[in-house]
Amino acid sequence: MFDLVIANGTVVTAEGIAHADVGIRNDKIAAIGARLVGLQTVDASGMLVLPGAIDEHVHLQMPVGDVTSSDDFRSGTVAAAHGGTTTIIDFVEPEPGQPLLAALEERRAEADGQVAIDYGLHMTLSRADDETLAQVPACINAGTASFKLYMAYEGLRLDDGGLLRALSTLRTHGGRPLVHAENHHAIIYLASLALAEGRTGPESHPLTRPAIMEAEAIHRLLSLAGVTGTPLILAHLSCALGLEEVRRARARGQTVWVETCPQYLLLDEGEYQRPGFEGAKFVMAPPPRSAADRAALWAGLAAGEVDTIATDHCPFFYETQKTRGRHDFSKIPGGAPGIETRLPLLYTHGVRTGRLSLERWVEVCCTGPARRFGLAPRKGTLAVGADADVIIFDPERRVTLSAGGLHQNVDYTPYEGWEVHGYPITVLSRGQVIVQDGEFVGEVGHGSFLETVPL
Ligand SMILES: [Zn+2]
Repeated sequence: MFDLVIANGTVVTAEGIAHADVGIRNDKIAAIGARLVGLQTVDASGMLVLPGAIDEHVHLQMPVGDVTSSDDFRSGTVAAAHGGTTTIIDFVEPEPGQPLLAALEERRAEADGQVAIDYGLHMTLSRADDETLAQVPACINAGTASFKLYMAYEGLRLDDGGLLRALSTLRTHGGRPLVHAENHHAIIYLASLALAEGRTGPESHPLTRPAIMEAEAIHRLLSLAGVTGTPLILAHLSCALGLEEVRRARARGQTVWVETCPQYLLLDEGEYQRPGFEGAKFVMAPPPRSAADRAALWAGLAAGEVDTIATDHCPFFYETQKTRGRHDFSKIPGGAPGIETRLPLLYTHGVRTGRLSLERWVEVCCTGPARRFGLAPRKGTLAVGADADVIIFDPERRVTLSAGGLHQNVDYTPYEGWEVHGYPITVLSRGQVIVQDGEFVGEVGHGSFLETVPL
């Protein structure tokens, strides 16, 4: 006898599809099979039953200059849950000179008690001096085994020497780099040129971050990682030229995993031509690019060259926060919301169009990320012994996305008015129903810290 049985659904994992019941006891999956009997039964006839999704790249309540991303751990994780995401990985950003473990403790104190779902943290290495790098093993021991490296943004970025030192240290200790690859100096130069010529609107943003300079950064990064022999994850790949660099590195024998995001698969540079200041809603880095880039990323996903779809969720209110850059696009806080809409968008535009199989959709949104951060087999799949993080997904439910109907704490969605066909209906986190028929019934504080482990 199980506590709960999800009966008669189509169970989808990265490995295959089966018509089966899922039996849950306490917080774990206890059986997958036929005619299971539970104290409670949820009928999932006609539904897809999926592992809870993992979003390996989100920025909740993240300070950026003098503004902070508008979803806190509470609103952001509730929104995530509505979208079928049951695990997020956010970031620790130590203050200059702050010991990394102290920053980790502070960040955990912000999240614990506030999160509706489980969460992990990447440690940001914005310095690569001996003193900072000496703290890497302690971070790994404390459950933060992945490290964000930036090649752009003053105050965060590492130069080539710093990258080499950081990559080498991470190689030694098994820490996993997640890298933001853009050419910092090109961005600064092109932005100053645009501003000097009076081109101050959001339409200048993508012109200052051209695809060729992202590809240059990726090439340089992968060359440095080739020297140190460090496997890495490339964050938010946006362009075909960048994917070519990845192919070359893999052909040389390097291990590199590629993350992209729904915005690079679904949006393009045309968004910046919206009237007035509206293009600011799409100011993020890297920017969405051309139709050809989108096609290359879709093909890469289907072919297994692109490994993960995360969101890089980093929302700012259009009316009160994005407006800081009304007269200077370089001051528009960079980032956009997406934590809630990933699965339905990818189902609608990936699975329904035949560009992704059901199994591949689950692999790139759930299973792959769990494996890469050492959360498998506890997270990311439906298997006996795994956490009972489960989505009941109605493949026929049609929803028109709008900021008012979503739970993200922000006044717009890049997908306003888009109709999705397929939506999460009921979501479980460790055996607890946290979203039921589209309503949040969970408990803020239910989520707990997950340790990522070196692989
Ligand atoms: Zn990010």
